[in-house]
Amino acid sequence: MATYKLLLLAGDGIGPEVMTEVVKVADWMAKAGIASFESENGLVGGAAYDAHGKAISEGDMKLAMESDAVIFGAVGGPKWDAVPYDVRPEAGLLRLRKDLGLFANLRPAICYPALADASSLKREIVEGLDIMIVRELTGGVYFGEPKEIIDLGNGQKRGIDTQVYDTYEIERIGRVAFELARKRGNKVTSSEKRNVMKSGVLWHEVTNALHKREYPDVQLDHMLADALGMQLVRWPKQFDVIVTDNLFGDMLSDVASMLTGSLGMLPSASLGEADKNGKRKAMYEPVHGSAPDIAGQGLANPIAMIASFGMALRYSFNLGEAADMLDKAIANVLASGLRTADIKGTAATTVSTTQMGDAILAELQKIK
Ligand code: NAD
Repeated sequence: MATYKLLLLAGDGIGPEVMTEVVKVADWMAKAGIASFESENGLVGGAAYDAHGKAISEGDMKLAMESDAVIFGAVGGPKWDAVPYDVRPEAGLLRLRKDLGLFANLRPAICYPALADASSLKREIVEGLDIMIVRELTGGVYFGEPKEIIDLGNGQKRGIDTQVYDTYEIERIGRVAFELARKRGNKVTSSEKRNVMKSGVLWHEVTNALHKREYPDVQLDHMLADALGMQLVRWPKQFDVIVTDNLFGDMLSDVASMLTGSLGMLPSASLGEADKNGKRKAMYEPVHGSAPDIAGQGLANPIAMIASFGMALRYSFNLGEAADMLDKAIANVLASGLRTADIKGTAATTVSTTQMGDAILAELQKIK
């Protein structure tokens, strides 16, 4: 049985509550003989600021660099609203992304049949939905230079952001998307705005060349980002893997997230460059934040966090069967009618964070 090194960064607010449920799942996996985990606990966000005066310590950064996967809860909260900008809780998350070189953000949007009525769209549009948005995370307009506001001296100012992508950045995110598609529905939709943006023209050209050269077996379609936004709410089941840049990916993945009902259901993975052994630095985290409004009350839905761990099983440890089993356990628990408050719908009662975690463990035990 292989052993994997995890760094657990629970963070703030509901972070520690949902992380507790992941630890239970990891312990169960070890007992079931699937894999064992050497876990270290670190501090990030406000918790790290309180302890060290910065959003993540050098010691924890070192542990992150040495780990097989970082499992991240959530950071932030009103307590730290006034701390200096460079040590604010989110700075810990940005430092991890930067130093681990996490250029690929994977956000699945899966609509469990039992939750189809929680979506703002009609059941037949979202039921059984399973798409993956691959967003470029370290380039594009959020990082391009120049990035400034200049005074034009005539009472006017000018705000400038620069959208910039190099060939290698488009190729490496494209590879992540094509590789994923091969393990799923074998279809990639690449999205940009080549009708009005030069970076879009290059994105389209490089993706086509990569496809022809390395992935001719995968179906490749192109769709302008505005049209894709429209299609995501019109008929989202037409997509398998969507690959797009940082800006469009930010917006389109948020649109897709709402197809599935609740923030408490959405996992994510961020991956770095593959080394010569094919191993990537990686971080797994729920899409939601620290939810200060419900923290400490046992109300948080742990499914986004547990499903993020499921993505670690699949993408960092190559334990696809265990990941499938975990996804099935979650689906079965939802199908049995168990609900946390955020996905209550018309359910008569709700369960706590711990009860939801326990129910998923019991289901794992049943289907193993
Ligand atoms: P949020 O995601 O924390 O909460 C939004 C709403 O969704 C709240 O009503 C919350 O109760 C609910 N919610 C979120 N996760 C839930 C869960 N697992 N179960 C049940 N309900 C859940 O976003 P926000 O309120 O805008 O931000 C709160 C803090 O989190 C801020 O400090 C923000 O900066 C931070 N934040 C951190 C991250 C991160 O760590 N990656 C992401 C987003 C926001």
